[in-house]
Amino acid sequence: MGRRSRDKSARRREAKSAQLPEGERLARLVGELTADPEMAEGRRRFPRQISDEDALAITAALHGELDEGVVAREEDARSRGARIACERGCTGCCEEMVLVSRPEALAAARFLSREENADARRWFRANFRRWRESVSDDPERLADLDLRGEDRADYLEAHRANWGKRVLCALNRDGDCVVYDARPLVCRNAHALDTSARCHGGNQGWVPATRLTFAPVDEFLGSAAYLLRATHNAGGARPNRRESLCVLVDQLLGPESE
Ligand code: SF4
Repeated sequence: MGRRSRDKSARRREAKSAQLPEGERLARLVGELTADPEMAEGRRRFPRQISDEDALAITAALHGELDEGVVAREEDARSRGARIACERGCTGCCEEMVLVSRPEALAAARFLSREENADARRWFRANFRRWRESVSDDPERLADLDLRGEDRADYLEAHRANWGKRVLCALNRDGDCVVYDARPLVCRNAHALDTSARCHGGNQGWVPATRLTFAPVDEFLGSAAYLLRATHNAGGARPNRRESLCVLVDQLLGPESE
């Protein structure tokens, strides 16, 4: 099929899809995004660029679904007498560099753009400049290694080197996440059993915190990562490239005007 007729049929499908109720339209879009692994994994272009609004709706649905899974996991853990060590104000896991695809950064940036979050937004912009100096070019280096993907040992080494600097995420304000309601999946899923002592970057033995295994959440995270990647790739971003959450949020907020 030629490029022009492909564009035409994509436009026709889009027009048809726009007439559907919102939930049905999004479900159909999710089906299209994940149907062809070649497109979902960025080896072939999705026939049209999906909108930021659709990327945000998909991301919000994934965040909501994970939150429900996390509650179920906690209930399951409690019923077996397990103790989850996480509590408000603990910042151990916020010392790790968070890499995300564009849709999740967009969700955080959109949250900070709201009028009621103006104070948090101003605070982040100022804090980001300090954070940037502390992490130097670690965000770009990690993003490059993550994209290359062939040798995870190199990525892990760079990740640990950054983690060992113990620089708190630029979105963490005095122990609280300023984008809590829009934080990425990796942050929503973070938890430690019994003790948080191994969560922070001073844990030089690199023995990870003990985590719960809970099949519904573990399986969901795999399919969510796949859908986010497909959404990222169909949104016109550089294929498969995840970036530092803080760097992307700063970029997406645009030039400072306040
Ligand atoms: S986004 Fe929020 S929860 Fe995630 S690392 Fe940053 S401050 Fe912590």
